[in-house]
Amino acid sequence: MFLDIHSHRFVSDTELRVLRSYFAHEDPCTDQPFTMGVHPWSLNSRPLDSDFARVEKFAVNPKLIAVGETGLDRAIGTSFEIQKNWFLAHLNLAEQVKKPVIIHCVRAYSDLLQIRKNGRFLQPWIIHGFNENSRIVRDLVLAGCYLSVGPQILREASKVTSALPAIPSERLFFETDDSDAGIRTVYQQASKITGQPVGVLKEITLANYRTVFKETL
Ligand SMILES: [Zn+2]
Repeated sequence: MFLDIHSHRFVSDTELRVLRSYFAHEDPCTDQPFTMGVHPWSLNSRPLDSDFARVEKFAVNPKLIAVGETGLDRAIGTSFEIQKNWFLAHLNLAEQVKKPVIIHCVRAYSDLLQIRKNGRFLQPWIIHGFNENSRIVRDLVLAGCYLSVGPQILREASKVTSALPAIPSERLFFETDDSDAGIRTVYQQASKITGQPVGVLKEITLANYRTVFKETL
């Protein structure tokens, strides 16, 4: 089975296991495992209290298996303090309900690592759409994070294309996010880069899924 740890799209395919990620204002399909959060890109355009109240409400649903996506993004105009406050609200909620977090992080890894170091966060954090160098891989792995790699590896010049071999297999996931690229293409490209057969990558990511979500597949 191919595992897509972060997708905003509905996909019907019996060979895929997709963890669908909803924005807080969307109505989730609660028959399947899902995640939900207030995206940092929504902070300027959404009624945040009521959106976050929806995340809190769904957070106790057994089918919500991770909080987010939430995160920090230094490439957008939204006040960083505001981003940080909402990010912390999600992180604390995840600790309360004892569920992992799906994180969007752009040019804010030192802030993220500082937050992880200063707080008492016991839940796993999954950095989605990871596209940074191997030094940042090392720092995140030491801090206990998981890294999810998406269609960015289809571009040879992406940072993650060189950094992928540095990600320890026990911390690795793959995803499609909101891209048209299929998850099989992502696995195939990862196989080409790392030299690991697709079947091995499938086993690795399913094992990581079981570890992080304490779920049998
Ligand atoms: Zn996303």
